[in-house]
Amino acid sequence: MTGSQPAPPPLRNDCFALPPGVDWTPVDTALDRLRQSLTPLTAIETIDTGQALGRVLAEAPVAQNPHPPFANAAVDGYGFAHGTVAAGTGDGTCRLPLVAGRAAAGAGFAGAVPPGHALRILTGARLPGGVDTIVLEEDTRIEDGTVRFSTGLRKAANTRPMGEDFQIAAPVLPPGRRITSGDLALLATAGIARIAVRERLRVAILSTGDELVPLGQPRKTGQITDANRPMLAGLLGRWGFDCLDLGALPDDPALIRRALDQGADEAHAILTTGGASAGDEDHISALLRSAGQLTTWRIALKPGRPLALALWNGVPVFGLPGNPVAAFVCSLIFARPALLALAGAPWETPLGFPLQARFAKSKKPGRSEFLRARRADAASVDVFASEGSGRVSGLSFADGLIALGPEARTIAEGDPVTYIPFSEFGL
Ligand code: AMP
Ligand code: MG
Repeated sequence: MTGSQPAPPPLRNDCFALPPGVDWTPVDTALDRLRQSLTPLTAIETIDTGQALGRVLAEAPVAQNPHPPFANAAVDGYGFAHGTVAAGTGDGTCRLPLVAGRAAAGAGFAGAVPPGHALRILTGARLPGGVDTIVLEEDTRIEDGTVRFSTGLRKAANTRPMGEDFQIAAPVLPPGRRITSGDLALLATAGIARIAVRERLRVAILSTGDELVPLGQPRKTGQITDANRPMLAGLLGRWGFDCLDLGALPDDPALIRRALDQGADEAHAILTTGGASAGDEDHISALLRSAGQLTTWRIALKPGRPLALALWNGVPVFGLPGNPVAAFVCSLIFARPALLALAGAPWETPLGFPLQARFAKSKKPGRSEFLRARRADAASVDVFASEGSGRVSGLSFADGLIALGPEARTIAEGDPVTYIPFSEFGL
């Protein structure tokens, strides 16, 4: 494989279509729909393994050597041929004359060890001829040029056979894998210097709203600072994607149209915030509708209003709510798995676990809720004092989300609730 390959096929026009007649879409249905319709959009390139941390494997890399590449010593001790000492001396020990020299890692023993003899051997040394078993240094006594130790060692004790970890030509990692630091050790051990990975996913971000001012610029009365782009840029960075910042724009269709055109030209996907519902100022929805392929997903989810999903010049646009809390939660629940799928990684479902609620609440059945939550101790979890979605400080309070399913109604203090740590969302 060489260089970049042609770009993969675009998404189908109807990829965001929902089944007809659906009113409020349950979260799981929405996620299933995305899972079925999203395919990788990133091209394949071959890069140095050392540069591959966080990248998505396009193909299974194949071991260039077995591991270990040769049988070697697992400990410091004395090596010998197991068959030649089986009898012992009658007192439960055996005594083997030592051969001059030693075997060390990277400085092997040239000759072979004669039957009934032993050789000093150090961890990582290739086993010389005539050695198949090692007695641990701490279990021996050296007496008059011999090594003495208890009999009963099993054959091959304290050795690492060739290929015990993996064989040559074995696929060491699956396609879709996102390379971890542990994987870099594995790939290096397998002698894989170059690997085929997916190009990094480029995601454009755009904030919309007449009231928005970019961070660092003075605010006039009635204006607020754009919180969503710093947050989304942070999330994208943590997820291993490149971010193209299209700025904060007023609710002006012509300006937004131009930004979406740029995003579609230069990025694989676009995240917008604000203007996603059906209100007068909701230009994102209006624009996407005029482009012909908008689907507004009314997801039965709190916090979160409708999610606008569309293709703009063939590029997927995720129209997130403007409210930073809702935008954050929708990014974790919907945008992250969707973007990972576009990046060529397998679908990810965050895993929660039960903790005892240190709060009480009642909720509407029929919709899911995600509460900003913080683990209090090994057994219990707190929620942020206010559920108001305008309370951005709750995002910093939280170290995870509590997921309440559509069926949940009342939660009493001490009830088990499902807590999903932010680490499950790649944070
Ligand atoms: P919208 O979704 O445009 O109706 O916005 C919902 C609420 O979120 C409004 O109170 C907006 O002022 C606020 N909002 C929208 N975009 C942002 C942003 N980028 N940063 C901070 N607040 C925002
Ligand atoms: Mg707005």
